[in-house]
Amino acid sequence: MGFDLDRFESTVEPDLICKLCGKVLEEPLTTPCGHVFCAACVLHWLSKVNSCPVQCQKMSLKELNHVLPLKSLILKLDINCDYRDRGCNRVMKLQHLSEHIENCDFSPVRCRNEGCDAVLSLKDVASHMREECEHRPVELCADGCGLMLSLKEKSDHRCLEALKTHSGFLQGKVLDLERELKRRRLRFSRRERSLLSKLSALHCELHMTEYKGRIDALQNSCIPFNKEEETATLNVTLHRASGCLGFNIIGGWSCEGQEGDSSNGIYISKVLENGTAEKSGLHVHDRIIEVCLISL
Ligand SMILES: [Zn+2]
Ligand SMILES: [Zn+2]
Ligand SMILES: [Zn+2]
Ligand SMILES: [Zn+2]
Ligand SMILES: [Zn+2]
Repeated sequence: MGFDLDRFESTVEPDLICKLCGKVLEEPLTTPCGHVFCAACVLHWLSKVNSCPVQCQKMSLKELNHVLPLKSLILKLDINCDYRDRGCNRVMKLQHLSEHIENCDFSPVRCRNEGCDAVLSLKDVASHMREECEHRPVELCADGCGLMLSLKEKSDHRCLEALKTHSGFLQGKVLDLERELKRRRLRFSRRERSLLSKLSALHCELHMTEYKGRIDALQNSCIPFNKEEETATLNVTLHRASGCLGFNIIGGWSCEGQEGDSSNGIYISKVLENGTAEKSGLHVHDRIIEVCLISL
């Protein structure tokens, strides 16, 4: 909704008027067909109808655009304060209006004395509460209840009744606070649950990273070991002792075995203690590359 025309000091150009509300454009947005409306007016319209408000073409929310030059033109117009009817005579540029409204001496404020419903201008509320309000606190009861008495209560105050009213008021307050506490507890426990589930997801992620690190470290420590093993060549001559050579073998050759592929080949799987093989320097995992002489 725009600003009422009669709030402006001079006549407003028709181009600055929203065709939906008939007032001066507030936060102007333009359609692809070039029509301009207040943001609130056109957004409300497009939530129901998917075409330009002057019925010229179909369009969607995404096609709206800001019109900055128009906006700055409107912000320079002279406007009356929102509280002109309450007595404020200030006229200011529209761009300063919201700042003024927050501190306007004539903005309505409710009296904060308990039991008073008076609404006053900001400039008058303090003196009303202090000097005029019949609900303003004046003195502590001297008859024994110890309650703070307002001007109105002072003349016909009875301790017992006043204490009953006060206690009812306090009970009401306690109930309100308990309800609020319950609501907050519920909100915090929901928040706690969501944080815990996020934390556990982060823990899992952390463990995965840790395991990956360990696997990488293991792989790195294995690679040089394998390479070293493969490059050390040993020539041994074994003499059969008490019927055996003192070692077992495993492995074989695949038909398409490639050279250097460690999954192919014949390896020593076991070396007998004090056997011929052990004495000659053979170890488990050694690969047998060539056999020169097989003595039966
Ligand atoms: Zn249009
Ligand atoms: Zn409008
Ligand atoms: Zn004002
Ligand atoms: Zn008051
Ligand atoms: Zn009393």
